[in-house]
Amino acid sequence: MPQRRDRSGRRDGLVVLGGASARKAPGPAGAVWLVGAGPGDPELLTIKALKVLQRADVVVHDGLVTEEILDLAPAAARRISVAKRKSRHSYSQDEINRMLVAFAREGLMVVRLKGGDPFIFGRGGEELEACRAAGVECHVIPGVTAALAAGASAGAPLTHRGAAQAVTFVTGHAASGKAPDLDWASLARANHTVVIYMGLSQAAPIAARLMEAGRAGATPALIVENASRPDERRVVTTLAGLAEAAAALSGPALLIVGEAMALAQAGGAESLVSDLVREARA
Ligand code: SAH
Repeated sequence: MPQRRDRSGRRDGLVVLGGASARKAPGPAGAVWLVGAGPGDPELLTIKALKVLQRADVVVHDGLVTEEILDLAPAAARRISVAKRKSRHSYSQDEINRMLVAFAREGLMVVRLKGGDPFIFGRGGEELEACRAAGVECHVIPGVTAALAAGASAGAPLTHRGAAQAVTFVTGHAASGKAPDLDWASLARANHTVVIYMGLSQAAPIAARLMEAGRAGATPALIVENASRPDERRVVTTLAGLAEAAAALSGPALLIVGEAMALAQAGGAESLVSDLVREARA
């Protein structure tokens, strides 16, 4: 007796693709999506990031991702924060890698949501390697990295004809109280923008090293805290004034040093793209 088949081609709960031998195996293969959530403003998510987030089974996110963005995932999706915590247990990178692989092997669509871009100081490369090593499918969706949002908010281009021929992104992360180990001579070149991620607490030694290496104390500098968020704050200063300006902020923030920062405008979140969009619609 022939088996019953519905109009979508399903028979006994299996999708029939052309005969019994081509039946789709139960439990589709899962995959990991390394997704850049941008700097905070949900309107700076890419359309692709939004689409993937709306289909997520599990969202594994770090601390820089805002609630507004997490709320774009389906209500039924499981949310796991792997944010660094001072008091409670923080997940090690190994634990995060194993978690992503394990969820994907359960057949789930795993969205690993990171602030900014997954490949700019986001350890996305390590997660990609872990997926590859485990034979788990992995896709990457780029995001607007904090430096781009900070320059846009302040109205200060990171490269600028005659003032900045190059831009370098560096990490200011170092053992507490110490300057990070960077190539100070190359960072001290004039007509060059240096963007320092994770450098707020090290602003004093970083500024001192740059000046020792020959960068002028009068070089324009900008600090942007919470770029693209309602609590954004921008302080315009000079390299010589960087440490003092940084002491008043608590982050997340970028230090940006370079001649092109002469164009930067101090202030708050008045230039948020989302505000402009709301006004245009009103
Ligand atoms: N992958 C992220 C960077 C992660 S490292 C990106 O591409 O943006 C974390 C550092 O990024 C913070 O210490 C801070 O220096 C910077 N950062 C992230 N979001 C920021 C924001 N909205 N405003 C200012 N700095 C930010």
